[in-house]
Amino acid sequence: MEIAIIAHDGKKADMVQFIMEHKQLLKAKGINLISTGTTGSKVEAAGLTVHRYLSGPLGGDAQIAARVAERKTGMVIFFRDPLEKHPHEPDIFMLMRLCDVYNVPLATNPATAALLIKSV
Ligand code: PGA
Repeated sequence: MEIAIIAHDGKKADMVQFIMEHKQLLKAKGINLISTGTTGSKVEAAGLTVHRYLSGPLGGDAQIAARVAERKTGMVIFFRDPLEKHPHEPDIFMLMRLCDVYNVPLATNPATAALLIKSV
């Protein structure tokens, strides 16, 4: 199963903590992780293999949205920062919209992500 993980800058620390807490599960289940550029470098630093797409503001969210539309990504964990403005907001909404179009589970905060990841 392919899972996308993305975190805005203000939520990257939460994302790393989430990865550390669920690292063994992700490895044991053989999850194929994909992510946006900077998020991916932090996932790698936390000891997991991940396929990195472009950085979010440069189109990474749009690339992951395309994988959702192609039915390749089965879950999206997107730690959004609701207190910041983002230049790539249209891409962020596109990704969330396509998750709803294709009925792909989408977590936008660590509490939901922790519940979702237990179901893989
Ligand atoms: P980043 O992109 O992982 O390259 O920081 C995330 C985003 O802002 O959507």
